[in-house]
Amino acid sequence: MGSCLGLERLGDLGLERAVLWDLVSADLAACDDAGFFAAATHRRQAAALMAVCKRWRGLLGPLSRSWKARARPPPPKKRALVATTPAQKNSLAEKCDLVRLARYETVSLGRREAYFDVSCRPITVKAEDDMELLSDLSTWGERFLDFWDRGVYACARCARPLYASDDKWSGPCLWPSWRRDLPGAARHAPVEGYNGYVVDVHELYCGGCDLFLGHAFADARDKGDAHPDARWRH
Ligand SMILES: [Zn+2]
Repeated sequence: MGSCLGLERLGDLGLERAVLWDLVSADLAACDDAGFFAAATHRRQAAALMAVCKRWRGLLGPLSRSWKARARPPPPKKRALVATTPAQKNSLAEKCDLVRLARYETVSLGRREAYFDVSCRPITVKAEDDMELLSDLSTWGERFLDFWDRGVYACARCARPLYASDDKWSGPCLWPSWRRDLPGAARHAPVEGYNGYVVDVHELYCGGCDLFLGHAFADARDKGDAHPDARWRH
C-alpha cells in the first residue's frame, strides 16, 4: 500500500475503507508500464469499496471508467524476430562480426560491459541468443542454480534488487527459477509465439535499467513448484 493511503474503519461491516483520493490522482498520472500492476491493485481495491458502500460508489464511480479502459494487462505482442527499432539496431548483436566477436571475447564475470551492450528492449532473437551464449561461456553452468543462501538477487548492471531467495525454487531449467520478482522490480512484457509455448509468456527487463533478464512462463505448477502461490517460473 502507498504511504498516501489513509485507512478508516467502515462501521458495522468491520472493513477497512481506503481513502483513495491522493492515490487515485497519483496513479492515473503515473500509470506507465512500471506502475501498471501496482496501479491495477489499487483500482481493484477501489472497486471492492464501491461494491460495499454506496457513498464511495458515487465518489469513485466516474473515475472507474478510465480505470476500466486500462483494467487488463496489454495484449501479448509478437516476439521481435529482427532488429527494427533504434535500440534494437544499436545492440552489439547487430554489429559486424569483426566488432561483435572482438568485444564478446572480453566478457567475463568480472567484465560484463559487452554483455550489457547486447541487451535491448524489446529483445530480438539474435540478441537473446548472444546473451545466452555469453552467459554460458562466462559461467560454464549456472552458478546460482544450486545456490540456496538467503538474500536478495540484484541486477548486475544497476544493482536494483530483483528477486528474493524466499521466492526461489528448484525448477526444470538450466537457469535458476523464481516464482515472482520483488514488487515492481521487473518490467513484464507479454509476448506470443515464444518457442512454441502455449502458456502465458512474459519477457522480463530490469525495472531500473531495462537489462533483459529472461522470460517468465505460467507453467510453474506443472513444472513442480508446490508453493501455494505457484504460477510463474521466472
Ligand atoms: Zn538494472
